[in-house]
Amino acid sequence: MKTIKELDPTSIETFQSKLRGKIVIPEDANYNETRKVYNGMIDKHPGMFVMCVDVADVIAAVNFGRENDLLIAVRGGGHNGGGLGLCDKGLVIDLSGIKFIRVDTSNNTVRVGGGNLWGEVDHATHPFGLAVPAGIISTTGVGGLTLGGGVGHLSRKYGLTIDNLLEADMVLADGSFVTVKEYKHKDLFWAIRGGGGNFGIVTSFKFQAHPVSTVIGGPTLWPIDKTEEMMEWYHDFINNAPDDLNGFIATMIIPGAPFPEHLHNKQFCGIVWCYTGDSETFEELFEPVRAKKPLFEHVGEMPYPAIQTLFDGLMPPGMQWYWRADFFNELGEEVRAQHLKFGSKIPTPLSQMHLYPISGAASRVGNEDTPWAYRDAKYAGVIVGVDPNPENASKITDWCKAYWEALHPYSSGGAYSNFMMDEGQDRVKASYKHNYNRLVEIKQKYDPNNLFKVNQNIKPVSQYA
Ligand SMILES: Cc1cc2nc3c(=O)[nH]c(=O)nc-3n(C[C@H](O)[C@H](O)[C@H](O)COP(=O)(O)OP(=O)(O)OC[C@H]3O[C@@H](n4cnc5c(N)ncnc54)[C@H](O)[C@@H]3O)c2cc1C
Repeated sequence: MKTIKELDPTSIETFQSKLRGKIVIPEDANYNETRKVYNGMIDKHPGMFVMCVDVADVIAAVNFGRENDLLIAVRGGGHNGGGLGLCDKGLVIDLSGIKFIRVDTSNNTVRVGGGNLWGEVDHATHPFGLAVPAGIISTTGVGGLTLGGGVGHLSRKYGLTIDNLLEADMVLADGSFVTVKEYKHKDLFWAIRGGGGNFGIVTSFKFQAHPVSTVIGGPTLWPIDKTEEMMEWYHDFINNAPDDLNGFIATMIIPGAPFPEHLHNKQFCGIVWCYTGDSETFEELFEPVRAKKPLFEHVGEMPYPAIQTLFDGLMPPGMQWYWRADFFNELGEEVRAQHLKFGSKIPTPLSQMHLYPISGAASRVGNEDTPWAYRDAKYAGVIVGVDPNPENASKITDWCKAYWEALHPYSSGGAYSNFMMDEGQDRVKASYKHNYNRLVEIKQKYDPNNLFKVNQNIKPVSQYA
């Protein structure tokens, strides 16, 4: 594998002449700004960025990378915990210039560019009273979140993001362009609904949107010493709730404003709710939650884009993030005890643990219908150590690892790929479980030389020899 520095400068000039977008190299003044991603812990030094503005740029970049034997990374929104939108010394194909959104109200579908962010999609669909299920922070990229699965406030009502993907335009490893959908390149359409960026670069997504305008949502908090009681109650409650109600349970610290002062810097067990039905039904449905006497409740009606941006202010880009994840079927006695133990020792105000329910519509898709192999798990769990100060990097990492190690024996074995960092091939296999072999075969067909390897990598058959 070559590095950019080893290339003949004229080949770089020829490459630039084929592009509408710009290239950025280490000598450029904007290089250090360009190599930043959401996770401040990631410090990679690519040899070149190609800031693509259209599909032709992506084709040229893929061909340039392949013909020159370069390591290629693809960056969508740059949110990936492990920094999988970057690589050292190689070529980064950046999609942030490929942004467009068109809402089609004749069939409630939305066409979105490969480099859009979710906040942009919510902004475009909301005036039409529509929404596409996505994640809970609006600055996350459509590309990475969708290709990995997409868990969020609407998962119980309308499924994962991939369950709402209708079509994708893709540039493949050989530089060819295809449109994939249920009846066209069926294998590839299956693989990209959870298999990540392994199979090509998506330049455009088409989603099914749904009638969601306002929601009733927000957090309820209980003191951390109620964690075991609340988790036991929550397990029964959420798994018997109507699809309209979503709520993810967390251990967390309230860091400061906008929360009331008496809550600041204390640990809590919290649930963040999102309800898509009418307000009268909600009041009745929510009675058992209020009967558990939360210490704090801030639940009310709001436009859907408001709940999607509720935590953006607390989570600006550039902080240190360390991630660990697993799926869980149960919240048994030992599991609840570990959550109390590690929830009581959260090391910094923004570090937290979330359990996202995989029930309702998200659980009514078969384990083999998409690569997302854990539809029958009840929760996608994630532990994140977060802090603005790099000096606290080992503190948040140690807590995150210890929390994960204590819980992992009770997990379903694998994790949601978008909640993982770089944890090696065995974890990737465990996460795709029985779907892994099929993914390997499709990888062999479309990317036999593993050109797209900076991801939760599915190696083609030929690379196992
Ligand atoms: C603060 C925060 C909150 C989050 N919340 C949620 C959540 O609620 N729900 C959830 O499901 N996930 C959530 N995530 C995880 C998120 O889904 C992943 O981090 C995802 O990888 C981000 O996608 P991206 O495009 O921003 O990332 P990038 O770092 O740009 O890319 C991630 C991976 O996807 C590939 N990729 C990106 N775009 C394309 C494309 N168009 N074509 C081909 N490959 C592509 C990249 O090559 C890379 O391998 C969150 C992450 C953060 C940091």
